[in-house]
Formats: sequence, structure tokens, C-alpha cells
Amino acid sequence: MSGPVFRFAPSPNGRLHLGHAASVLLNDSLARGTGGRLLLRIEDIDPVRSRPELIQGLRDDLAWLGLRFAPPERRQSEHLDTYRHQVSTLAERGLAYPCFCSRGAIAAMVEAEAVRSGMPVPRDPDGAPLYPGTCRALPEGVADRRRAAGEPHSWRLDTARALAAAPGPHVMRTFAVTSGEGRGPVRGIGTERVERADPARWGDPVIARRDVPTSYHLAVVLDDAVQGITHVVRGADLRASTDLHVLLQALIGVSSPRYHHHGLLRDAAGEKLAKSRGSQSLADLRASGESPAALRARLGFA
Ligand SMILES: [Zn+2]
Repeated sequence: MSGPVFRFAPSPNGRLHLGHAASVLLNDSLARGTGGRLLLRIEDIDPVRSRPELIQGLRDDLAWLGLRFAPPERRQSEHLDTYRHQVSTLAERGLAYPCFCSRGAIAAMVEAEAVRSGMPVPRDPDGAPLYPGTCRALPEGVADRRRAAGEPHSWRLDTARALAAAPGPHVMRTFAVTSGEGRGPVRGIGTERVERADPARWGDPVIARRDVPTSYHLAVVLDDAVQGITHVVRGADLRASTDLHVLLQALIGVSSPRYHHHGLLRDAAGEKLAKSRGSQSLADLRASGESPAALRARLGFA
């Protein structure tokens, strides 16, 4: 099979809202418009927040929208060994190290240093205090001993070493989306651009959490490769993540998809829609009598 391959990759930690609908409809219209395929990936690595009823809920919402996905569906929770193996491989190559610092300890260290130096608190693109690399310098024996003693730890990418191993230049290939005039909901792939990526802005990012043998970044990069995704269409809030993803792709030796980062729907107050802010869910809209056709029309896909 050939043709572009797209994906929709929700996390089942809440119900889907209008922003998800706009994103999946854009992916669907691109797959239709290019003779490609659209795959579904359930990003359920979080054992606490991902709940079975929410997975069923998102499948129901997507079916209600009239969406069909090409098989197979991928569930991240079924591939934890794959992620674990990749983290070990990166560690064996000297590109990852265990970090024993809690989030609170990191914030305290970074804030104390900012007070001392009179400089602002350095932050990663997600707004978290930028990890100062404390555990990078631990003697190997010490780290091994602490791990053997069962001390909780995450794994971090040693970005300086990673950049030495895969010097780049790191770029992401992006593409514009065209809307076919008079062709209803169909979209197409427009002009491609090469944009510079700056992975170092993430410092030494977590590639495996304390409680999960991967992080969002590593899982997504591996999954996109395994699923043969050629075109990633996702929200502009993930644009900075792509800077890191292209470095991980170079390190692991997989090809980099093309990217399109779409604008985000805002609520009446101008805030990005989010489950955490109680944005109206597709389930609410369905219960209030809205039809899938009306919703598609509202989002520009009729
Ligand atoms: Zn640490």
C-alpha cells in the first residue's frame, strides 16, 4: 500500500472536545483528499489517568462523527516493552542516564539558582523549570547502586552527547494544507518547507518516567515510525515538541515524517480548549442534540 499515512492520537484521560474534532477531521480530510490512510493510536501510557471507559468513550465519539480508521489500531500500553528496550539501548550508547530528582526538588534547585544569580528561572518549552543536569554527573557506580537499591528514577536524554552522536543540522520538514475550492471537506498537501529545529531548548528531557517506561516524546517517535506515519498533523501546541522529535528520530535511525501544526480552537475567553478547563465535550454536544453533520459544518468540514 502506498500513499500518505496520517494518524489521530488521542489520550484517553478525558472526553474528546471540539478541538479534537477539528484535528481529526483535518486528518481525515487530508487522507481522503490524497488517497491516503488515517490510523488511530490510543496514547494510554498513563496508568492512572487512562481509563477503559474513556477509551470506549473516544471510540464512540469518533464513530458518531462518522470516522473510520484503517487497521490496525495501536494502543501504547501494549508496547511498553518496545519503549523500555529503546531506553536501554540509548543508555547503553551513553545517550541516556537515570535521574533521581523529583519534580519538586528540580523546581527548588532551579529557583534557588535563579535567586542566587538574579536571572529568570530557565524553562523548557512546556514551561517547566529547565532541568540543570544534576544526575548527569553522578559517577556510574553511584547511579547503579541507587538503582539497585530501588530508588525511584526517570531516564533523561543526555542532549549534549545526543547532539554529538547525531550532529545534524536538525530540521523538520513541514507542509501547508490546501483546501480544494468547491470540493467540500477535501484538503490537500501544499507547499513543503524545511525549518530549523532546536532540540537543545528541551535541556535533558525525560524519555522514561518514574512510573512508565517511556515519555510522550519517545513513544510518539517510535509509534510514528512503527505505524509508517508519513504526515503528522497536530496542534500548534506541539510545535516545540517536534524540535526534540527530529533529534530522537535521528538517534534511533528512523525517518522523519512531514509535519503540519494546525491552529488551536479557542473558547469565548480566548483560552485553548482543554479537558482540564471543562471545555464542552463531543458527548455533551451529542446529548444536546447536535448532529455530526452540523458539527462538521461548524468546523468547516461539510
Ligand atoms: Zn536528577
